[in-house]
Amino acid sequence: METQLELARQNRVTPLMQRVAEDENMAVEQIVRQVAAGRIVIPNNPGRSGQKVVGIGTGLRTKVNASIGTSSDICDIALEVEKTRVAEAEGADTLMELSAAGDLDAVRRAVIHSTSLPVGNVPLYQAFHDTIRKTGDPTRMDPEYLFDLIEKQLADGLSFMAIHCGVNRYTIERLRRQKFRYGGLASKGGTFMVAWMEKTGRENPLYEQFDRVCGIMKKYDAVLSLGNGIRAGAIHDSHDRAQVAEMVINCELAEIGRDAGCQMMVEGPGHVPMDEIQGNIMLEKRMSGNAPYYVLGPIPADTGAGLDHITAAVGAASSARYGADLICYITPAEHLALPNAEDVRQGVRATRLAARIGDISKYPERRETEKMAALARRDMQWQDLESLLMFPEEARRIRDSRAPEKAETCTMCGDFCAMKKGMALFAQDIGGDKQAPGRSTAAQGGGA
Ligand code: SF4
Repeated sequence: METQLELARQNRVTPLMQRVAEDENMAVEQIVRQVAAGRIVIPNNPGRSGQKVVGIGTGLRTKVNASIGTSSDICDIALEVEKTRVAEAEGADTLMELSAAGDLDAVRRAVIHSTSLPVGNVPLYQAFHDTIRKTGDPTRMDPEYLFDLIEKQLADGLSFMAIHCGVNRYTIERLRRQKFRYGGLASKGGTFMVAWMEKTGRENPLYEQFDRVCGIMKKYDAVLSLGNGIRAGAIHDSHDRAQVAEMVINCELAEIGRDAGCQMMVEGPGHVPMDEIQGNIMLEKRMSGNAPYYVLGPIPADTGAGLDHITAAVGAASSARYGADLICYITPAEHLALPNAEDVRQGVRATRLAARIGDISKYPERRETEKMAALARRDMQWQDLESLLMFPEEARRIRDSRAPEKAETCTMCGDFCAMKKGMALFAQDIGGDKQAPGRSTAAQGGGA
């Protein structure tokens, strides 16, 4: 079987590329070109039917990932299925199943069967989880078991995987030599792999046998997302030498994987102050040859716990604006607890909004909906406005809960409604469209 990348290189248009072109309102030739260059990936395991087709990368709408999964404290398959359904209903584009406790095969299969979203995971979790169960010691993990596991999980229908190939002895040495880490190690899979390498004295098998990883992924045309195990877990660690070392290696591996015909993404960067986000995106894009960038947050402050879905949304809007392609949501429970269904809802909503804000600046030519919403608001066409909003039911709920005396206004200003007064004064003057100067006197609505 050939991958989407290999087919695109032969200039062949596949149904998946066609679908992405339709969804994004772009010419299919453009999609083919970008897939061939490795700038767009389409995570879609051909062994799983009924899967939503999602393109991720250059020129496309910024996508949102929701992550769910059990922990050793809260392990309930029904809850994870509920969270999956909430994530999809709220508009997530992809889902990561990140369970670390319970019957991991059963959770993964239940989650895949309960959604049409492309599903990804981190295979290291199960490799270490199963090793602990069998031996009580994660550092006894057998690399052969890990490779078998990657294949077994893909056979269940996963479409992408975050695999920590870039945590190698070189990156660990950079970490040790810099002699600080305010946020410690923030990646579960990465930290277990580092512990394994420290104990065994061996190189990371996912790095050492990278071609083997690519070969397995290619069999399922799954997207290999290069996990960042040394990502910054505090803004004071942002772009420290250890993080950057792993980033360089991941970008190098992205090129090697792409040359081998495997669809590749790069992950990053964790906690990053706002002034460094643009530089981070630029580095990833330059060093990887514009591989799609899957960002975790970034979280631009370390003091927002409890409302970190908002903290991360601020960082996410900036990262989307500068070129991030897929944003992993953060929920209000981040750093505090396993998210529940309501946390998932809030996380997806905040991240979708952030992605939209980023796209408004990333693609200035795609602002038509914003303009239509502004006009509906100006003209107090509430129903029209509702149909254009990202969260219409929220808007309706709030407005209905405090209904105004005069239906055209709202209870914020009541008789002092500036919209109503302003349009009464200037409807004939400001009802035009700046993109069509000849129509400058055409009143559009006038609402007063
Ligand atoms: S009452 Fe105030 S907030 Fe409400 S529509 Fe009028 S100007 Fe806007």
